[in-house]
Amino acid sequence: MKRPFATILLLLILSACSNDPEDFNGNVTGYRTIYRIPVVVHVVHNGEAIGTGANIGYAQIQSQIDVLNEDFRRRTGTNGSNKNEDGADTFIEFFLTIEGPDGAILEEPGVDRVDGGRSEWPKGILRNPIETSLKPFTIWDPEKYFNIWTVNFGGFVGRDLLGYAQFPDESGLPGLNVDSGPDNTDGIVIGYKYFGSSQKGNFPGLVAPYDLGRTTTHEVGHWLGLRHIWGDGDCTYDDYCLDTPLSAEPSFGCPVDKITCTELEMTENYMDYTDDGCMNTFTKDQTERMITVLETSPRRKELAILVQEPLD
Ligand SMILES: [Zn+2]
Repeated sequence: MKRPFATILLLLILSACSNDPEDFNGNVTGYRTIYRIPVVVHVVHNGEAIGTGANIGYAQIQSQIDVLNEDFRRRTGTNGSNKNEDGADTFIEFFLTIEGPDGAILEEPGVDRVDGGRSEWPKGILRNPIETSLKPFTIWDPEKYFNIWTVNFGGFVGRDLLGYAQFPDESGLPGLNVDSGPDNTDGIVIGYKYFGSSQKGNFPGLVAPYDLGRTTTHEVGHWLGLRHIWGDGDCTYDDYCLDTPLSAEPSFGCPVDKITCTELEMTENYMDYTDDGCMNTFTKDQTERMITVLETSPRRKELAILVQEPLD
């Protein structure tokens, strides 16, 4: 599946070098580069039948991939479209991988069902069983796959954790560490009750107002180097993106006309904490950070398959 594509791509890159040397993305005139990322979803369950509880069904998984593509490509006519002048198509896409680590065609593309032997995965500062056991024992080669785990979180008092991500390494970007974690824990973890979209099928396990797939959009943003838009601090903390206005705190629900620093806040940004139905924006500066990560960071730069797409 990939090889003929690579040949075409090579031709396109060669022509890009001769025709348009100033375009650092290697875009051919009249085309743009799309970054397509192969995904595996490790569905962690406790022996439930497929489609029951934490052992979520294939349609729910596919609905989440569809949401990612709508959001990252700012697709017209979807929840991911917006008219914000700073809003951007990130040119990043995701697909469920056809082949498993042994090269065999997967029965369910991009899905690895794992009986984790427990009903809940405790979380908190150490998140230990997930980080020390689940991820290292189930991860697929992070230079070939973007690893996503879905679990049933538990053992936490207070606001429920929806998901979390491992940041990229060695991006050179401000606001990120050189080393953000080991190879064998790289990826994102999402509560199965927040993975997928209730607008795309009958998935009764999803919990509103986090039932439209934006938890995963947010965590993928972190995995590609984005910080929260409030910079995790007061008005003196930034997210290192000039086109996301400063904010002193996260927002919940669907606030409009909110100002905690000097400008109207972008509470519709995916990197806030607002309800799924109120988010629809990645900005141009956020896109620039994510593309830098995809071209620079270990376990990111090897992943994307580059595709040339004709301009509109
Ligand atoms: Zn976050």
